[in-house]
Parts: sequence; C-alpha cells; structure tokens
Amino acid sequence: MEKRDYYEVLGVDKNASKEEIKKAYRQLALKYHPDRNPDDKAAEEKFKEAAEAYEVLSDDTKRSRYDQFGHAGMGTTGGASDFSSMEDIFSRFEDIFQGFGFGFGSSRGDTRRGVNRGSNLRVKVKLTLKEISEGVEKKIKVNKYVPCKECLGSGAAKGSTPSKCNTCHGTGQVMQMQNSFFGRIQTATVCPTCGGDGRIIQNRCSSCHGEGIVKEDEVLTINIPAGVAEGMQLSVSGKGNAGRRNGMNGDLIIVIEEEPHPELVRHENDLLYQLFVSVPDAILGTTVEIPTLDGKAKVKIDPGTQTGKILRLRSKGLPDVNGYSRGDLLVRVNVWIPKDVSKDEHKILEKLAKSPSFSPNPNSSEKTFFKKVQDFFS
Ligand SMILES: [Zn+2]
Ligand SMILES: [Zn+2]
Repeated sequence: MEKRDYYEVLGVDKNASKEEIKKAYRQLALKYHPDRNPDDKAAEEKFKEAAEAYEVLSDDTKRSRYDQFGHAGMGTTGGASDFSSMEDIFSRFEDIFQGFGFGFGSSRGDTRRGVNRGSNLRVKVKLTLKEISEGVEKKIKVNKYVPCKECLGSGAAKGSTPSKCNTCHGTGQVMQMQNSFFGRIQTATVCPTCGGDGRIIQNRCSSCHGEGIVKEDEVLTINIPAGVAEGMQLSVSGKGNAGRRNGMNGDLIIVIEEEPHPELVRHENDLLYQLFVSVPDAILGTTVEIPTLDGKAKVKIDPGTQTGKILRLRSKGLPDVNGYSRGDLLVRVNVWIPKDVSKDEHKILEKLAKSPSFSPNPNSSEKTFFKKVQDFFS
C-alpha cells in the first residue's frame, strides 16, 4: 500500500512546530485509540499510521531526512519504526498517553501504568550454518510470566476490584516540595502506599497471590533473519515477561549460538574448506566435489596445482545480516603425501625423483603462491 504523506496523516502543514505536531498526534491517538474503537481494524490502522508519522516528525533528524528524501529516506537504517504491535506504540510514546484516562493496552478499561514493566526474557537459539544461510523460523518453548487468567492480571480476587489509592489518588505518584539552589521545586516520586500501582488490593487473587502474573510454558515462534552470527542478540519488543498487575511486557532477547559445521568453517561471511587431493591428481588435474551449504559443487583442479592454492566460489558463503552482499566459499588445496608406499611404487618414485620435472622450482610455476598463502592466513 502506498504510504501517505506524514504531514497529511497528522493534518499539519510543513512548517508546523513541534508543539503543533504533538497536539495533532494526541488528538488522532485519542480519536483512534483501541479502547474507543474495539475490534475496529480500520481505526487500528489509522492509529498505527499516526504513530509512525509522529515518530518521524517529532524527531529533528528524522524529520529533516523525511523533508529531503520523503519515504525513500526512511529505509531500514534509522528511519521509521515498524509498529507491529500496539504495545510498541504505547510504550514508545508513553508521555503522550499519560492522562488519557485509559491505559496502555487495548480493550481494558482500567488505568494501567507503565511502572510495572516485566523483565526481559533471554533465550538461546542454536542454529546450523544452513539455517543461518537461509534465515529460519524457530518454535521455542519458554517458561515465562503471563497475565493471571483468574484475575485477568489485576491481582484482585474474583468478584472484588482494586480500589483507588487514597495517598496518590490513583496516579501512582506523589508530589514533594524540595528546597534547592534554584529555589523551591516540585518533584514527583513513586507513591509509598501503593508502590506506583495507583490501586490498593484488599482481596488478593489466590492464583497469583495478588501479583497478576503467573509462570507458564509458552511456545514462541521467532523469525531469525539470514546472516546472524554467534553471540548476536536480537530483541523482540513486548514478547518478554508480562509485567505485574497488567503492567507492560518486557522484551524477548534472542541470543544466537552457532552449531559448528562438520566440514565448513566460518570466517565472517566466508566459508573455508580444506580440500585434500592425491599427488597424481594434483599433477594431472581432476574434478572434485566439495560440500556447500546447499549440497555439493564441482570444482576443477588444474594440472600442476600446488598445496596452498585457494579456489574461490563466489557467493557460496553466508549472506550479510544487512542483506547487502554474500560471502564466498574458499577452498584451500592440500596435496596429500602418503607415508607408506609399496615396493613397486617405491621403485617408480625413485625413477621419478631423478627426472628434472620433479625438481622443485617454486618461482617458475606460481609467482603469487607465497603471497596467496599469506593472504589466506592474514
Ligand atoms: Zn498510591
Ligand atoms: Zn490472579
């Protein structure tokens, strides 16, 4: 779908001030808020569209890039966020949604505050080089905090409702006056009575002991892009542990582990393969099959090939995680020298040893031979 102009989305003109942009977004967010438009897909789209426009236009750097290049300037690097979940929007623009009267999530009428953020959930995912080469969808079972079904995450026992905290009147914050160098200043701190919840639970839910969250096994489907590497961490916003009493979800952190390949060794985006050929094959030339990540490849060995020769199979390595290029598969030739030979072979070799063709002369055959070896190990 063609993207609409961000200024048009927010209904402001190109010279709009930051305040005007914020005001315009606030109005749209109120109008299309999911709590006011339950199960309305069109409203949800409008809500997301406005969030994306606001994210760009409220940031000076992004706005100036957008002014110069339009949507084309908003590529994957440093452009607009893709707000795939509504939670992303609520957490990103927390300041905007404060004081809306309804909360950080859809379809729940109570005031949820952002203070109860769930912890991040870290999972290790082991991948083969083939999976890394292609990108993969993995299903993993995790044991994580989810909202308690008994009390729908509120922490209050069935039939009871939390009451508004009298100390902070439901805001979760108390104001304090302090004397400072600049005079008397007012600061907000977390309410000591309710711990920032804004609510007091007299009758705790027995399933979750009033926490609003319980541990459960859940199967997560995660998409791993091609080109990742050992130790890399991917973060999926809002897929971590649920927060206490309908708080915000933490993030899911995926830590990549690489399973070694039996024959291929990874070096950045290139793959290395040690090929062994027999002495006669190295002298006479041959064709060999070598393993690749997607099967086998035939490689021609020229007559007179030395140990240390590097053959490069273009683009048979791993893709760059940014998707711009692909590494190569480097094949290093090793000529296999046997230790034990039969009596007959011994005689033949003695004869060959006297032939001038078998007398080493490294400078004549391949001038770049030593350089190639150096390059390979550098
Ligand atoms: Zn309170
Ligand atoms: Zn509960």
